[in-house]
Amino acid sequence: MRILITGGAGFLGSHLTDRFLSEGHEVTVLDNLITGNLDNIAQHFGNPNFQFIKHDVTTHIHVPYAVDAVLHFASPASPKDFPAIPIPILKVNSLGTHNALGLAMAKGARFLLASTSEVYGDPLVHPQPETYWGNVNPIGVRGVYDESKRFAEAITMAYRRAHDLDTRIVRIFNTYGPRMRLEDGRVIPNFVSQGLRGDPLTIYGDGSQTRSFCYVDDEVEGFHRLLMSDEPGPVNIGNTNETSMLELAEMVNALTGNKAGIVFKPLPVDDPKVRQPDITKARETLGWEPTIGLEEGLQRTIAWFRTHIPA
Ligand code: UDP
Repeated sequence: MRILITGGAGFLGSHLTDRFLSEGHEVTVLDNLITGNLDNIAQHFGNPNFQFIKHDVTTHIHVPYAVDAVLHFASPASPKDFPAIPIPILKVNSLGTHNALGLAMAKGARFLLASTSEVYGDPLVHPQPETYWGNVNPIGVRGVYDESKRFAEAITMAYRRAHDLDTRIVRIFNTYGPRMRLEDGRVIPNFVSQGLRGDPLTIYGDGSQTRSFCYVDDEVEGFHRLLMSDEPGPVNIGNTNETSMLELAEMVNALTGNKAGIVFKPLPVDDPKVRQPDITKARETLGWEPTIGLEEGLQRTIAWFRTHIPA
């Protein structure tokens, strides 16, 4: 297959690129490098099965060859990005999704949308099954991400219904691993960077809020199974192991040998209090479930950050 990945120089997109190239597929990466990084894909330069095109997918997408699958993974995804670059986020998930769908239509390709647990907002149902419609503040700072991903799901389903496009939607829960930006702002890169530098870990709020963290290799396996299945989704892909930010901080301090402890900072506006996927659908339709526990995944992540943090 020739697979086109928008956002392929980003965290998830680059791991997907590795996976498909390792299986002998051809991969074209489109990325404007707003949050992506060429270092994530540099290992593939010179591979005849790999092509990188620097392109902003909010403008028309054209490639002069056949494409079998379009994977739309372009979008800044850290809460730190939401107030910093709100309009590019809205555009990539609206105009960018429209363009990526148009490309899939023109090529007769399968389309996979990277959606998010943020469509559930600050959830009133716990854990979150795909049937839950969510609790999102449309006008808050997170709304630029949450609402544009909800729009992306809506337009994907419209193309499926109106144009018979072969679509998939994955709702991605908190994922971590090598290649997250050192200054990404999300909790695991923050804690790991702080722990390795010997700084206190910054807990926002009282640290009782929870997330469920999935290691990137498990996540990519879920995407792969969904793409190769007939399941349109949406399907939650994430780890069910729910952890408070206080527990996470203790783990990271122990694993990095950090003696500097923790400090408390203000909780960001509309920060979800809990998050845990119900993965019954992924288990039943894809035979997928995560295999890598938090401690092992953190160790792998810490090992990568250790070699990438400037001395
Ligand atoms: N958080 C924290 N310290 C940090 C960064 C984040 O306590 O240095 C908290 C944040 O307030 C949230 C959780 O960690 O409750 C997960 O935040 P993240 O930005 O990783 O992603 P989110 O799941 O909120 O999209």
